[in-house]
Amino acid sequence: MTAQTNTTIHTDAVVVGAGFSGLYMLHTLRDKLGMKAEVFEAADGVGGTWYWNRYPGARCDISSYHYSFSFSEEIQQEWSWSEKYAGQAEILDYLRFVADKLDLRDDITFETRVVSSDFDERINRWTIKTNRGHTVICKYYISGVGTLSTAAIPSYPGKGSFKGNVYATSNWPHEGVDFTGKTVGIVGTGASAIQAIPLIAEQAKHLTVFQRTPNYATPLQNGQMEEAEARAIKGRYGEFRTEARASLAGVPFPNMRESIFKDSPEDVQKHLEDCWNDGGFALWLGSYGDVLFDEKANAIVAEFVRNKIRQRVNDPKTAELLCPDYLYGTKRQPCETNYFETYNRDNVSLVDIKPNPISRVTEGGLELTSGDSHEFDCLIYSTGFDAFTGPLFNLNLTGRHGVRLKDYWSERPRTNLGLMSNGFPNFFMITGPQSPSVLFNMPLGIEQHVEWIADTIRHMEANGIATIEPEKAREDQWHGVVEGIANSTLLPKTNTWYTGSNIPGKPRSFMVYLGGGAAYKRVCDEAADNDYAGFILGKAFADQEAVAS
Ligand code: NAP
Repeated sequence: MTAQTNTTIHTDAVVVGAGFSGLYMLHTLRDKLGMKAEVFEAADGVGGTWYWNRYPGARCDISSYHYSFSFSEEIQQEWSWSEKYAGQAEILDYLRFVADKLDLRDDITFETRVVSSDFDERINRWTIKTNRGHTVICKYYISGVGTLSTAAIPSYPGKGSFKGNVYATSNWPHEGVDFTGKTVGIVGTGASAIQAIPLIAEQAKHLTVFQRTPNYATPLQNGQMEEAEARAIKGRYGEFRTEARASLAGVPFPNMRESIFKDSPEDVQKHLEDCWNDGGFALWLGSYGDVLFDEKANAIVAEFVRNKIRQRVNDPKTAELLCPDYLYGTKRQPCETNYFETYNRDNVSLVDIKPNPISRVTEGGLELTSGDSHEFDCLIYSTGFDAFTGPLFNLNLTGRHGVRLKDYWSERPRTNLGLMSNGFPNFFMITGPQSPSVLFNMPLGIEQHVEWIADTIRHMEANGIATIEPEKAREDQWHGVVEGIANSTLLPKTNTWYTGSNIPGKPRSFMVYLGGGAAYKRVCDEAADNDYAGFILGKAFADQEAVAS
């Protein structure tokens, strides 16, 4: 148990989170801007997402060499990845290596959660309080809390009554779980469950999967990283990163073709097969340019994937249950290894809870609306996240005039560029809602945000600017831009966590900028180059600064 404290600290900046975002933000503030910064992190170590999501099979879905920091040539050259797609433990080791290399740990307060964040407009300072009794007063407040860090566990009636062990893929025990000889139930078939299910099935006596919506999962095609390939990448890391930044999702797919209708049906099948074999997101983001825009193009790929599922699952009834019928790729495509074959095992059963939802948790397991009950020793929730806004609301932010972020965003997130919100001056969100975030290579997107924030702070310090926040009208414009691009694609047509519709009662809006990282960076840079067009810059008054310091 970590000790309580009663400390009041005055500092330049507070950063929340010690994942990719928090680590690079701390390094930048401290070592590039020469500022004092406090970082608070709920876990007892660095890693963020990769600290918590330790479930069996957790691994990255974009290739290891892309999914890493680019800001330090030394780090790029020193670190080597062992697999094409790194597993959770290796990514966590990488982040520990970065923290040690940059000597970051001493400036991070672990096992500490922020409980309130209040802007005091008399002195233009944030007051941040933690569950351990810290009070920190700072000028700049930066969120590195991530987009998928607040788990959404259904509140079924009888939730606490299950007598066996309960687990969540989003917060897996550090010592691991041995399911040998155990019967297990898992709720959810999203990207996390699809990685975990094959490995749990290999160990457990019996695994029951409760599926509400099947997924168009495609093979990851992981393997050992060849030394020659790693050497080649390290030899041209600069170009490798430039290509990544210029691509739509931050990972280049050089075999992408413009339109599925320009190829003959035979060539289409061959190209889809090649993309399938390339693995990862190649089919989703790198096959044809019209797949996520045109329903007819989409239907061809959807049927291609369904046919693959039918070929891989022996029992035709089970295969059909595993075949999705919504638009392909409108939910984030999971990547899998032996997922569909897992349903050929005698110790695995699939329960379709779409027509027959879970009605309650019992002492022995789960009961369905029909009255059917399923009993097991262990129950796993892999039911997703209150994405984007959940982790920000947990910071309990109150801005100007006592307005809470939760209230200001009651209908949808209101931001300019996904970076800042009106009435919350000097509060910056790394990978915030309405930025490219989860649909761009995360480490590269994080770097772009951290560097924009650092340049903004540098500009403010050099020009005696006390506060920055977006104009309200610009937030409406940016919402229009984000929704406009999203509505030109098929993505908003499906209920997903991109729109908030996985959370009962959450207002619906598309929360990812889909225009690509390069276009997004241009807009951010143009705003900065035009004296922060779309933002309100507040001058410092000498008396305010005197009171604050
Ligand atoms: P998810 O994709 O949101 O999946 C949640 C699953 O739980 C869905 O199958 C959902 O069904 C089901 N579910 C939710 N509430 C339910 C309820 N009340 N009753 C029954 N079923 C319920 O969550 P996730 O699998 O944790 O993945 C979230 C995101 O994390 C991914 O999309 C991805 O971006 C990221 N992720 C990344 C990696 C990686 O490799 N880098 C790995 C794992 C996850 P419905 O579909 O019907 O709502």
